Amino acid sequence: MVRLPFRDGFYELRPGKIICLGRNYAEHAKELGHEIPEEPVIFLKPPSSLIGPNRAIILPRKSKEIHHEVELAVIIGKRGKNISRAKAMEHVLGYTILMDITARDLQWEAKKKGLPWTVAKGFDTFAPVGPRIVDRRELDVNDLEIGLKVNGEIRQLSRTSRMIFKIPEILEYVSGIMTLEKGDIIATGTPAGVGPLRHGDKVEAWIEGIGTLEEDVIAEGSILC
Ligand code: MG
Repeated sequence: MVRLPFRDGFYELRPGKIICLGRNYAEHAKELGHEIPEEPVIFLKPPSSLIGPNRAIILPRKSKEIHHEVELAVIIGKRGKNISRAKAMEHVLGYTILMDITARDLQWEAKKKGLPWTVAKGFDTFAPVGPRIVDRRELDVNDLEIGLKVNGEIRQLSRTSRMIFKIPEILEYVSGIMTLEKGDIIATGTPAGVGPLRHGDKVEAWIEGIGTLEEDVIAEGSILC
């Protein structure tokens, strides 16, 4: 569970599932050598990968190349199945930032072998969210600056207007497969500029109108337990 500021108080975010889009910005699909998809590419991250703001992303020993991905995240406010794109926004509570942390080397291996991405995407701390939830009625998310810095240096910078599939289409597609429930999170894909994280890095991800989500980066091997 992650507690984030929302309206005048807090919202306890306990997602039953975290759904992520892959390849939803053309320039990112291209940098990984993929075609532009004809329908959304989706995968799941486990709720156990969630952490709040100002915590630490733990780099697991099993991977040698862990990448940052900044994404606009939609929080579901109302349950729905087979939601039409015309009614999709009624099911949205609000928005936050999610970093879709990815063990890129393990993802390449999985892709080569035709295996799922669960390992590459599913480690603990691989889904930082925050710094707050913005009510959907208070923010038009169709054309916002989205970016990410590592140690103060800009790595990703784009606009949400470059998303291939927009939020109503995404909700229509996903809810045609699985029931969306209150508290579920949908991360809408990352722009170009993904790259490695190292022990000791400071990551800042921002989206105009939402704020900045900051995390430290720590190698698993450096933690004494
Ligand atoms: Mg992603």
